[in-house]
Amino acid sequence: MSKDKLVADIYCIEPIPCNPCETSCPFGAIQVGDDITNLPVVDEDLCRGCGICLAICPGLAIRLIQDGYKDGTSLVAFPYEYEPIPEKGQTVRVVDMQGNELSDATVIKIQKPLKDDPTRVVYVEVDSAVAAEVRSMKRIKEAAEEDIVICRCEEIGMKEILTAIEKGDRSLNAIKRRTRAGMGLCQGKTCSKMISRMICEQTGIAAQDLEPASKRQPVNPITLGTMASTADRPLILDLDDLKRELES
Ligand code: SF4
Ligand code: SF4
Repeated sequence: MSKDKLVADIYCIEPIPCNPCETSCPFGAIQVGDDITNLPVVDEDLCRGCGICLAICPGLAIRLIQDGYKDGTSLVAFPYEYEPIPEKGQTVRVVDMQGNELSDATVIKIQKPLKDDPTRVVYVEVDSAVAAEVRSMKRIKEAAEEDIVICRCEEIGMKEILTAIEKGDRSLNAIKRRTRAGMGLCQGKTCSKMISRMICEQTGIAAQDLEPASKRQPVNPITLGTMASTADRPLILDLDDLKRELES
């Protein structure tokens, strides 16, 4: 691991026929050799840390690293193919090869080494104690309203609920009829409180003035056997008996 400059560090472990890292390096710093299944080897003296091989490797198996970047920190760069792209100065969570979170890191630079390939290379300053393990970063999720699921049973998002309120729905029942939120297996146990709060926040209606949602039996999920039993008729546990009962 170089202390003076960024160099490529390859963790390609499968002896498969692949060599774009070798052919793409403009400085001849990577050798695969005549047998295309050889594992690539980097010549650190030749490597200029340009980042091209990071973006071109289909296995995302190359990073750049400079140990001793600043006091107690290292500079690590890795390919990143997700959106949104992090910003310079942003704090991100770096992860190891298995995706386990290691620590916070500061984004130093974003690079797009290839003109026709959207892969970015993200440079982060990270504590040297974890730098050897860093392979990528935790994906940044945009808290888009559509992504926030309010009714899990029917998979209804926040945006759909807000649209229903905008269109004039002022009760849980009205929103249920328009969107199906609350009609799933849990019968609104999870979403009704959130939807009530959204109605109150968006319309100014006081919580105590909100029309309650209709409740129908059964209030909890129950088995067919329980449904088929009554006080004067024993519980039917045999499915054939139950089928005969239903057909009679
Ligand atoms: S970082 Fe650039 S110079 Fe270094 S091995 Fe990769 S392509 Fe070659
Ligand atoms: S391009 Fe990537 S996967 Fe292919 S040999 Fe080079 S390091 Fe390994």
